[in-house]
Amino acid sequence: MGAEAGRPRAGIVVTGSELLTGAIDDRNGPWLARELSNRGFEVAHLLLVGDRPDDLAEALRFVADAGVELIVTSGGLGPTADDLTVEVVARFAGADIVLDRALQAHIAGILSRWAARTGFAGPALEAANRKQAMIPRGATPLLPVGTAPGLLVERLGGPLVVVLPGPPRELQGMWPAALEAAPFAELLERVPPAAARSLRYFGLPESEIAATLREIGSRLDLTGVEITTCLRRSELEVDLRPQPGADTVAAQLAEELAGRHAKHLVSAEGSTTDELVARALLGGGRAVATGESCTGGLLAARLVDRPGSSAYVAGGVVAYSNEAKTALLGVPAEMIAEHGAVSPQVARAMADGARERFGAGIGVGVTGIAGPDGGTEAKPVGYVCLCVTTVDGTVIARDPVLPGGRGDIRERSVDVAMQLILRAAGGLPHRGRPRVGEP
Ligand code: ATP
Ligand code: MG
Repeated sequence: MGAEAGRPRAGIVVTGSELLTGAIDDRNGPWLARELSNRGFEVAHLLLVGDRPDDLAEALRFVADAGVELIVTSGGLGPTADDLTVEVVARFAGADIVLDRALQAHIAGILSRWAARTGFAGPALEAANRKQAMIPRGATPLLPVGTAPGLLVERLGGPLVVVLPGPPRELQGMWPAALEAAPFAELLERVPPAAARSLRYFGLPESEIAATLREIGSRLDLTGVEITTCLRRSELEVDLRPQPGADTVAAQLAEELAGRHAKHLVSAEGSTTDELVARALLGGGRAVATGESCTGGLLAARLVDRPGSSAYVAGGVVAYSNEAKTALLGVPAEMIAEHGAVSPQVARAMADGARERFGAGIGVGVTGIAGPDGGTEAKPVGYVCLCVTTVDGTVIARDPVLPGGRGDIRERSVDVAMQLILRAAGGLPHRGRPRVGEP
């Protein structure tokens, strides 16, 4: 399913030596990849290169040779000597570099305001101003979000190169202007809409989806649909991207998939669990309260990650020690002595305690053994007890043994808790509401 099937290909080249030493994680490549995919491009390559001009030039050639119509670069637009992207891209496009006076004046304005604030004026600043206003002849400048302008550079018979600054805030801030600039806007008009459909499942192994796809594929011609599956936040996400003309097949496939694994289906129209939880809590007019041990507040942090969460998150307690579980959540000390701090009984008491103390409609308790030490044969590392209780008597409890290291176990505990909250809040209507008192 390559370019011949109708989706224009694009390449991304991210520069920065600090990305190759592992000092910082690349935040631009994945962001751009998502943007371009969602707009209907087939992203062919995402390359990371250091701040060496030869490596950057090589990367541009490599991506261009892959038959892309668009290359987006990030980084290396600043005023310092290691910022060489403009020069390299100019050479790639066969253009000489000229001073853009309007751009120079614009940057001078930004710099003088900065100089007035910081007191750093003088020749260094003037040199920076001049360097950042030097652009390949014929290129379309994009006004700076910081001080570095972006660029759109066209090469005769070659791909359009969109050159963006490295700081993620600047890159993302400049993106809307890049999309609107004439050469990019013209290219976008020729890109068929992406119209991807996503289905999300929880607790379903990838092998099950693979088998189902094979079976459906034996009856239905799926060649026009690009299917990708990936595991994110413990959920299996299946994306269906129809090539032009394959919308009906994709819709039919989505419907079959949703019906086939309904028990594990979280959403069939792209919503994330976090969106569904927010919607269900808001719609039900109930707030949630958390009592957390092994997750140490990760669940509360996840819940308040969304703007507007104050409407449905009452609060949370991190009760790590036994004493805290008793004092802050009302878990009877005898219960802990009898069953252990990591037990279904204690998880339930934590859920009830959080709900009652915060006056919330839904309470969540999480207690587990995150490791690496502290496991026993009966309660191994990864054993986590979770419980959600509601004011009207619903109880949903799970006690899985979660795989992975300490970080994985804590994250997966939060993922499971989110699913249980969603269920208790009635956010999975296609699976039916849990029964009152369900274990
Ligand atoms: P500046 O004018 O800030 O130098 P620039 O376009 O030259 O902008 P870089 O020098 O490549 O950008 O990067 C500047 C800083 O932006 C980096 O030190 C880093 O903190 C951040 N940054 C750059 N690229 C990335 C990236 N891909 N992911 C995350 N952060 C990045
Ligand atoms: Mg720089």
